[in-house]
Amino acid sequence: TAVSETSPKLRAELEGIPTYKPGKPAAADGPVAYKLSSNENPYPPLPGVMETVTAAAAFFNRYPDMACTSLMAELSDRFGVPLAHLATGTGSVGVAQQLIQATSGPGDEVIYAWRSFEAYPIITQISGARSVQVPLTPGEVHDLDAMADAITDRTRLIFVCNPNNPTGTVVRRAELERFLDRVPSDVLVVLDEAYREFIRDAEVPDGVEFYRERPNVCVLRTFSKAYGLAGLRVGFAIAHEPVAAALRKTAVPFGVSQIAQEAAIASLRAEDELIGRVGSLVCERARVADALRAQGWTVPESQANFVWLRLGERTLAFANACEQAGVVVRPFAGEGVRVTVGESEANDIFLKVSEEFR
Ligand code: PMP
Repeated sequence: TAVSETSPKLRAELEGIPTYKPGKPAAADGPVAYKLSSNENPYPPLPGVMETVTAAAAFFNRYPDMACTSLMAELSDRFGVPLAHLATGTGSVGVAQQLIQATSGPGDEVIYAWRSFEAYPIITQISGARSVQVPLTPGEVHDLDAMADAITDRTRLIFVCNPNNPTGTVVRRAELERFLDRVPSDVLVVLDEAYREFIRDAEVPDGVEFYRERPNVCVLRTFSKAYGLAGLRVGFAIAHEPVAAALRKTAVPFGVSQIAQEAAIASLRAEDELIGRVGSLVCERARVADALRAQGWTVPESQANFVWLRLGERTLAFANACEQAGVVVRPFAGEGVRVTVGESEANDIFLKVSEEFR
């Protein structure tokens, strides 16, 4: 067409990547009472964190501290890791993108379970690397044996999403250990622990344990979920020196605002209160999952702040019914819906719709 003749050459890898329409909100539009579609924290910011943010706002004519010095110092103390083993980014999705940029390009392969976090295929495709998607087991959990079998000499990166988005299922210590033993030491394994704080299963390891023993393990964490800072965009990685340095090289300069850095520090210091809120969400998760099972649904055991309902062809109808009732959920067409555990009133609305669909 005339447009493509005059258009600058764009990378072929961008073809087929979904994007939002300018001028139209990416989230569901129209008035909805409750948003259960993005695994956000339903609690409003803590007053103390708000105060910190307000004070930091007085300086937004200045660039932030590019090195996130105070936040990195706080993280270094808290996790008992050297500063050189830390890197921050604009949300953990930003750090995931840096990880791909640092490791993978055309001809390389990135392995992850599927279905899993929607960003993995997108950021892999943008890099020019090839996605190797290993189906979840019928029980909706990572098939780590099949993932290890998928490793080739082109594999550069493996994501293990623990708990997995959108199923909420987990990988336990012994099986992760066995898997890591099979991964060559020059392949980076990213343990994406965005929902770490919601885990109550004692068999699920803290990824940091594995990072300590293995130079090819990187732990990815975020302030968006348990810490309630989704809108401020702060994530970080814990990895050995060469990987962490590569992440600092590939970061967007000044990508983490000063407001975000200070809110993250304030949140770490207010952790007791925030973790208390997580406890309430975990109780609510049990209430929602039990209610769904009592209604006759098969619900995989979720260790995150959402539940997964397999609906097949009824997925979009279900999501529409939820929206009519006042809650927005996240449909994956033909597969199922992921529903964030939110305010109890919101969860009740969702449970009413699920009852009607039984
Ligand atoms: N990893 C997983 C598994 C997620 O579900 C999400 C958010 N949906 C992220 C990373 C990214 O979150 P953020 O960029 O807000 O840290």
